Amino acid sequence: RIVYVNGAYLPAESASISIFDRGLLFGDAVYEVTAVIDGGLVDFHAHQQRLRRSLGELGIDFDPASIDLMGIHQGLRDRNGLDEGLIYLQISRGVADRDFLQPEGLEPSILLFSQALPLIDSPAAERGLAVITREDLRWGRRDIKTTQLLYPSMMKTEAVGGGADDVWMVDNGTVTEGSSSNAHILTADGRLITRGLSHDILHGITRAAVLDYAREAGLEIEERPFTVAEAQQAREAFATSATAFVMPVVSIDGQPIGDGRVGESVRRLRSLYIERSRERLTF
Ligand code: PMP
Repeated sequence: RIVYVNGAYLPAESASISIFDRGLLFGDAVYEVTAVIDGGLVDFHAHQQRLRRSLGELGIDFDPASIDLMGIHQGLRDRNGLDEGLIYLQISRGVADRDFLQPEGLEPSILLFSQALPLIDSPAAERGLAVITREDLRWGRRDIKTTQLLYPSMMKTEAVGGGADDVWMVDNGTVTEGSSSNAHILTADGRLITRGLSHDILHGITRAAVLDYAREAGLEIEERPFTVAEAQQAREAFATSATAFVMPVVSIDGQPIGDGRVGESVRRLRSLYIERSRERLTF
């Protein structure tokens, strides 16, 4: 597998970064994950816009337009023969002696790699996910896509260890998001309820696209927080992320949603998302 590190394409085994990289020592880094289907990039520009925003919020002085990020994505795809999967991009503040004070003027570390994965034909999407809920103990700037992912990783591991698939995190009684996805429900009268954008959640690229497509398809959308009880009584529930697309959720804390099987509306939203994404790929 070929990866990209600081200007060079290399076999993964010979790629390296410094042990003093602030991404490693402080989680002082941001990232993006872009899906590839049919050899094309999904929503490339939206991911680059969010990357720029994350860098700005952390005060990492780097203009992502100063390098050809699209060309690097394409270069990795081509070198790895990637038809379906993901491309991961990480930018850290850079390398310096360990210090809580963020040094100025560092050269950021940039790394990208690809992973081949089946995304469209997903057994999980056929089955639907069982999620458990846990208190959201992450920091208060979840809108910045940083690499400090310890808590959601711990909670996902706890969920899977207990026989579930994932976690939905809960802050002050309302659902924030999944370990690596946004959370949504559909009511019996056909409204799509999803938490509005704030510092509480990541501003999902897939969330935004799905809301656009759902609105075009005539669904009424309500952006507001919802409780676990409301989600458990919903007709259908689902998660969205760049690699899960639209992923049905069929139970929450052991309580089946609707009849406990993947519902029609979520199935349709998933197909609609894949269809519309395919029409808009970047090659
Ligand atoms: N929330 C969190 C916490 C995430 O980690 C992710 C995926 N990285 C998402 C939501 C979904 O965002 P996107 O649709 O842009 O992948």
